[in-house]
Amino acid sequence: MTLTPYKNEPYYDLSDEANREALQRALAEVGGRLGRSYPLIVGGKRVETDGEISSVNPAKPDQVVGRTGRATEREADMALETAKRTFESWSRTEPTARARILLRASAIMKRRKMEFMAWEVYESGKIPSEADAHVSEAIDFLEYYAREMIRLKDGVGINAIAGEESQYFYQPMGVGVVIAPWNFPFAILTGMSAAAIVTGNTVVLKPSEHTPVLGALYAEIMEDAGLPEGVLNYLPGYGSEVGDYLVGDPRTRFISFTGSMQTGLRINELAAKPNGQPWIKNTIIEMGGKDAMVIDESADLDAAARDIVTSAYGYGGQKCSACSRAILHEGVYDEVLERVAEGVRSLRVADPTDPETDFGPVVSEAQFEKVTGYIEAGQEEGELVAGGGFGDPSRGYFVEPTVFRVEEEARVAREEIFGPVLSVLCARSFEDALRIANDTPYGLTGGVYSRNRDHLETARREFQAGNVYFNRTITGSLVGVHPFGGFGMSGTDSKAGGPDYLPLHMLPRTVVERF
Ligand code: NAP
Repeated sequence: MTLTPYKNEPYYDLSDEANREALQRALAEVGGRLGRSYPLIVGGKRVETDGEISSVNPAKPDQVVGRTGRATEREADMALETAKRTFESWSRTEPTARARILLRASAIMKRRKMEFMAWEVYESGKIPSEADAHVSEAIDFLEYYAREMIRLKDGVGINAIAGEESQYFYQPMGVGVVIAPWNFPFAILTGMSAAAIVTGNTVVLKPSEHTPVLGALYAEIMEDAGLPEGVLNYLPGYGSEVGDYLVGDPRTRFISFTGSMQTGLRINELAAKPNGQPWIKNTIIEMGGKDAMVIDESADLDAAARDIVTSAYGYGGQKCSACSRAILHEGVYDEVLERVAEGVRSLRVADPTDPETDFGPVVSEAQFEKVTGYIEAGQEEGELVAGGGFGDPSRGYFVEPTVFRVEEEARVAREEIFGPVLSVLCARSFEDALRIANDTPYGLTGGVYSRNRDHLETARREFQAGNVYFNRTITGSLVGVHPFGGFGMSGTDSKAGGPDYLPLHMLPRTVVERF
């Protein structure tokens, strides 16, 4: 099987008039399709439920993007049973045939990319350029994992002793429960489930309650790509209603989760409890962060300030990789803070369909309450440097980009806020800055701006985060280029989009024959 070498999906140049017009057409066309219903999909059949989830546009909460089914334990049971049954045939399907389905799904996404970007704008409140990056990431996951499966299909080389043949290969695991977050509702959901599927497992897919329509669209693409019925079962539902059931059920072989620390730890604990299944459930758990950028005295201060602003406020700070702490050496503190504040004051928060918008609303009313609560706390704990305002949530969940000057112990400097709020801290030395950066239970992303080789080499060794970036932004990881994942309380460091990811979904076996 010959394929072109893997490369990342290019982004649209949205300054190009033709692309802007195509985007407007896509927004208008998708805008005309809002409000439709999306039932569950179990074993290829549409399954209606008594309840429903209403997904709204966070920029206009009275606009319903779509209504999806709302699974209860009854439907969760059906989905697990279907996935268990389908595993018998899917696990025996040739890896190359499985990979071809991902490649076909990628081709469909490429052809309809503007359309999916428009859905992201409406359902998750992203501006089109962010939506482009995230739909491109979904395409990248499909392309990359298809090639990874082809690389791994016959196992990997090991040694043999004279007179024997040794084989080391991977076999599928079983039923995977894939639980996705809302912030990358297309990309992460695609990546987690495609990896589970291409490795020969069957999947029960639970999207976030805030972005279930994008999950339905993904399930439809996989159907169009020829995925056999029952391999992917689309199960929108509230985590509080079906989460424990899916995780605890003895038919579940592994759980692939991305979301908050609180939910991740709960899943990890429940999955570890024996419940009659003859295996230890595997868990791939990616959680939150309190990511920091360190700026030393030797840094290019303009570039550092610019990249702090991009890393902190892209998609309103709702990226797990977002910079939520800027740790500035005391020698450059005032200067960098002033430049960051200047950059922040120039940001425009508005409806993401408006081309002048830098970032849109936070995703939900609950998120709005959480973020604005932290803004109140920050004003008591420290000094408000910029922003601090927010709108009437009934007219969209808009929060101003906010900067606080605080001490290390402030809650805003220690807890994950997941919104457009940056804490700026002062360090006495580079070592002190690294100490502050590492003084968190999380370990997801981090960055250093410096021209000092010793500082960079020290940070290479000592900065305790899964993804560390020097002299650039700390967001925007690319599949196959920046394998992504954190450790500590940020997760199991699965490194999505990297060479170690697919084996997490398979059982390695050694078979030896003596001749
Ligand atoms: P969340 O509240 O933990 O939800 C994540 C998913 O878990 C949702 O589908 C949710 O369903 C489900 N869930 C809730 N309770 C559950 C339970 N008891 N059992 C099983 N599933 C349950 O997180 P979020 O607010 O969607 O996402 C934001 C978080 O994700 C942030 O902390 C962010 O840092 C993290 N994140 C991490 C990464 C990474 O790669 N490390 C990437 C992206 C995001 P409902 O929607 O119905 O509640």
